[in-house]
Amino acid sequence: MKQIAILGSTGSIGVSTLDIVAAHPDKFRVTAMTAGRNLELFADQIRQFRPDIAAVADEKDIPRLRELLAGHPVTFTGGIDGLCAAATAPGVEMVVAAIVGAAGLVPTAAAIRAGKDIALANKEILVTAGHLFMELVARHKVRLYPVDSEHSAVFQSIEGHRSDDIVRIILTASGGPFRETPLEKLEQVTIQDALNHPNWSMGRKITIDSATMMNKGLEVIEARWLFDVPPEKIAVNIHPQSIIHSMVEYIDGCVIAQLGTPDMKAPIAYALSYPERVSTGVPPLDLTELAGLTFFKPDLLRFPCLGLAYRALAEGESMPAVMNAANEVAVEAFLSGRISYLQIARLIERTMDAHRAHRLTSIEEVLAADQWGRRTAADLCGTCATMEASS
Ligand code: NAD
Ligand code: MG
Repeated sequence: MKQIAILGSTGSIGVSTLDIVAAHPDKFRVTAMTAGRNLELFADQIRQFRPDIAAVADEKDIPRLRELLAGHPVTFTGGIDGLCAAATAPGVEMVVAAIVGAAGLVPTAAAIRAGKDIALANKEILVTAGHLFMELVARHKVRLYPVDSEHSAVFQSIEGHRSDDIVRIILTASGGPFRETPLEKLEQVTIQDALNHPNWSMGRKITIDSATMMNKGLEVIEARWLFDVPPEKIAVNIHPQSIIHSMVEYIDGCVIAQLGTPDMKAPIAYALSYPERVSTGVPPLDLTELAGLTFFKPDLLRFPCLGLAYRALAEGESMPAVMNAANEVAVEAFLSGRISYLQIARLIERTMDAHRAHRLTSIEEVLAADQWGRRTAADLCGTCATMEASS
């Protein structure tokens, strides 16, 4: 029986993780779980999965949670210390890092320091603090299993091979809802258009990131750290059907890929049960039922955010953290109707232009770079109309 902690149990990845646990009660037990805001759902999950520890992001929510779960035997905790207590709970072997954004940095670092293996969904962790986390993982001798479907595909395609023999990692991207939208129409696309992802059902932030392809940019940076490959060896192919989840090309000309029906339960289950496999309920893949698999090179004019991510990776140091922070602010501003779709990339670029990359030697410094990026992007967001006029 593997005991797990889920950071972000009420999110899209958290809920899928709980589905797998529920299907395999003989294999997994949820010992700790944490949530941000959705207290009713969190209370239902606690009732069903009976963790020892439940932590909420805001301590002020603890009384409400106690009320919802009166008489239930669980230790409630909250705030950053509470999230860390859940992440380091005794007996827990693996922590599923499924908080969205930079908020996951501190609890995930605490889990690694406590010797827990990590199933990593929270891609912003490696984007903002890749070298620090990889050092931490090595120092504490824990394993880091990718949950992101592309990285799980690479992980599965790389097993048993020498990294020296890799020519390229090819990450696939669906291209999102605007893959074929005429460029001149992109100025008018709505929030609803952008949330309408063709293949994957995910949280709101990552769905917008998929539309702009910043998600793929973040994944390029994530791959650079997870697999220790330089940026020039990481390519992106648009593959609208999302059947091939990513590929690895080797020096002998062989390409190894992982395929499957697009459903996050498959990569989550593999991270939880590695090296074994468990059933997931993901519909089997019948290639004869598909009209075809197609591939395209991404157009950086259409998807400037992908170019910004390669730029952030090339400049390195604090730049990816600042880019990530600016992206979070820009996506939020778009989702609340304050900026247009095309202004997302412009706002990120302006924030990056205003930043001078510097070395980051601690998680506190990463968080400071993150805060700088947020403040600067928020200030620039206030001048979006001027941005428009001058661009
Ligand atoms: P989501 O928004 O659905 O869920 C996020 C979870 O984190 C929720 O439980 C929320 O309550 C919690 N949370 C949010 N802000 C918090 C804060 N400040 N402090 C503590 N907890 C907080 O997001 P998601 O789609 O499940 O994605 C989670 C992570 O996994 C993201 O980093 C995303 O990029 C990555 N990811 C998601 C998918 C997917 O299919 N959803 C695929 C690959 C990678
Ligand atoms: Mg992905």
